Amino acid sequence: MKTIPHFINGQRYDGSSSRYADGFNPATGEVTASIPLASNEDVALAVAAAKAAFPAWSETPALKRARILFNFKALLDKHQDELAELITREHGKVFSDAKGEVTRGIEIVEFACGIPQLLKGQYTDQIGGGIDNWSMRQALGVVAGITPFNFPMMVPCWMFPVAIACGNTFVLKPSERDPSASLRLAELLAEAGLPPGVFNVVHGDKQAVDALIAHQDVEALSFVGSTPIAEYIYAEGTRRGKRVQALGGAKNHLVVMPDADLDQVTDALMGAAYGSAGERCMAISVAVAVGDVADQLIERLTPRVKSLIVKDGMQADAEMGPLVTAQHRNKVLGYIEDGIAAGARLVVDGRGLSVAGNERGFFLGGTLFDDVKPSMNIYREEIFGPVLCIVRVPDFATAVDLINAHEFGNGVACFTSDGGVARAFARQIKVGMVGINVPIPVPMAWHSFGGWKRSLFGDHHAYGEEGIRFYSRYKSVMQRWPDSIAKGAEFTMPVAK
Ligand code: NAD
Repeated sequence: MKTIPHFINGQRYDGSSSRYADGFNPATGEVTASIPLASNEDVALAVAAAKAAFPAWSETPALKRARILFNFKALLDKHQDELAELITREHGKVFSDAKGEVTRGIEIVEFACGIPQLLKGQYTDQIGGGIDNWSMRQALGVVAGITPFNFPMMVPCWMFPVAIACGNTFVLKPSERDPSASLRLAELLAEAGLPPGVFNVVHGDKQAVDALIAHQDVEALSFVGSTPIAEYIYAEGTRRGKRVQALGGAKNHLVVMPDADLDQVTDALMGAAYGSAGERCMAISVAVAVGDVADQLIERLTPRVKSLIVKDGMQADAEMGPLVTAQHRNKVLGYIEDGIAAGARLVVDGRGLSVAGNERGFFLGGTLFDDVKPSMNIYREEIFGPVLCIVRVPDFATAVDLINAHEFGNGVACFTSDGGVARAFARQIKVGMVGINVPIPVPMAWHSFGGWKRSLFGDHHAYGEEGIRFYSRYKSVMQRWPDSIAKGAEFTMPVAK
């Protein structure tokens, strides 16, 4: 069985801890890897490497940093299939979906290649007699990223390309459930010419995360994962004076207006609710059926959900793979039982699915509930599995109120052919990312990703211009030369003369 090492100071490193986690192939249920769980000393070693690399890296001209990222982008293009396969074999999502994830990660690298333009400051000539004023953005120092299992390449790419392009050095603590992609990214960065220590990877669990939070040389923390951990990291990090952005969980609604094209809605819901087995922070888990649209929608959805092709994601015709672990599948099964007990109507039951040849895989079939009420756990909590809930509401205003009252506010969509409704929805909805006839509105690399309410703790969304602001500090400089300095002390507040 292989061991997946840390990557510190430009090299693979086995670590000093005696604690290991099992890595699984979720399609077969087999243990395929052993993952070292970093000790405090391992984390300290990674932070020390990043700290030592910072002075030279932050002094490297942005153009030269960008050239390394261009090399990295070319290597990512070349290794796209290899990265996607690593993801499918540890996460379970289907290979074509994993390739999509790799592409969305590469797009952030492309964005970060523009860093000389993105870091440009502002300049004002002659703010007073012989005085000029300009602003610039400078790197923070060592920054850390802690990422979830569900996008083992894309979510780290929301962070480190922007952070290192800005001149920071980086320690990544990826999910211990699918860590291979991170290690490969570190190796490809080194091959692209990144100096040792600029990008480091430590595998681990709570102990490694707590060591990063407590380390005085870590200036900023980016986190993506579940809401309780996001809130914890935000509270603990900011208490220590660190800059923190912590993206949390979600419950994304798709509003179906009576004038929507129901064939388009059905296609959208199939992909958005069951793609990646619902293990996406932007997955649609609630369809809000307005007026009398629910019955027609269920009629279209039912045969499609029943005929989903669920199998090992490496097989070309697979539409949905397994869940990430047996433990997570049990959690989702628990929600299905809870929904039945609470009185929701189970239209399609995905329990009991067996995949021929892969009977020990962590599979669960697509599941559909109707008559879900806002008080039920299956409505209020994030299930993170292939379970779609239908909530019936009488009108548009009730749909908006329902969504705005939910504790999460990550993504949302509205399907309609009425421009006025679409405009009102985009303006009134209290959610960070909105799709009009787009089920999964993940912003492109040069916009920014982030939710509202308990889906994000902090002031900045991820990547795009928000990412540049998060990973750099603003500085204002005022300058004059001796020939413009008047004689004598000034005791009044200086004003333009
Ligand atoms: P998770 O919160 O369990 O783990 C995320 C990271 O935190 C991992 O690296 C993990 O090792 C670490 N961690 C786990 N427990 C910890 C603890 N007690 N203390 C400190 N660190 C801890 O999340 P997950 O199950 O890996 O990912 C799924 C979750 O991530 C879902 O809630 C999903 O909505 C969310 N997510 C959100 C976004 C977003 O952009 N808002 C994107 C992707 C995933």
